[in-house]
Amino acid sequence: MKNANENPGGAAPGCFAAQIDAAACSLCEVCARRCPKGALRRAVEGTVTAIYFAAERCDGCAGAPRCQKLCPEAAIRVSPSAQAASEEILLVQGEMQRCSKCGTLFAPVRRIEAAAKKGAASADLFHDICPLCRREDLVVRLIDDQRQAPGEEAEFRSGRDLMRKAGARSGRKTEPPKPPIV
Ligand code: SF4
Ligand code: SF4
Repeated sequence: MKNANENPGGAAPGCFAAQIDAAACSLCEVCARRCPKGALRRAVEGTVTAIYFAAERCDGCAGAPRCQKLCPEAAIRVSPSAQAASEEILLVQGEMQRCSKCGTLFAPVRRIEAAAKKGAASADLFHDICPLCRREDLVVRLIDDQRQAPGEEAEFRSGRDLMRKAGARSGRKTEPPKPPIV
């Protein structure tokens, strides 16, 4: 194992330890997705999602840990350590939310709760319903609305129009796929 004190610049892998404050972490996975060295890894195991850390891959981002910078909850800390673990370690884990309609595990419970705490407009809507089922609900609701308001009938000419309108109401883009460039 290398010694962090022999390497104040912090460039060598294997000299760093990582910690996540489990109470603050929303399991958003940003740190794992944006780590340039693949030192942070997200894994889904059964009904649980987890973040692992491999010290041998972490180089401390040359003294400016990207994971720390990007974490929206200020929950992760990477620091030099003379005793960095030689094996991958579990930093944090939490239960996934199961969709009450289709049964899919679609997001960590903590991520949904964190969004609700921050007042995200969609948090209540998808608390226990996955995005796909939510979109289906929107389309069904639009069809019902149309049945009650026949004057607007001409507005919907195809299922694609319905999806586009559903996307507009839910804030999502539902443009049809572009043709391939030849
Ligand atoms: S440590 Fe931060 S960036 Fe990583 S999963 Fe938790 S909240 Fe997201
Ligand atoms: S400091 Fe964070 S982002 Fe940078 S290599 Fe280590 S774990 Fe990855």
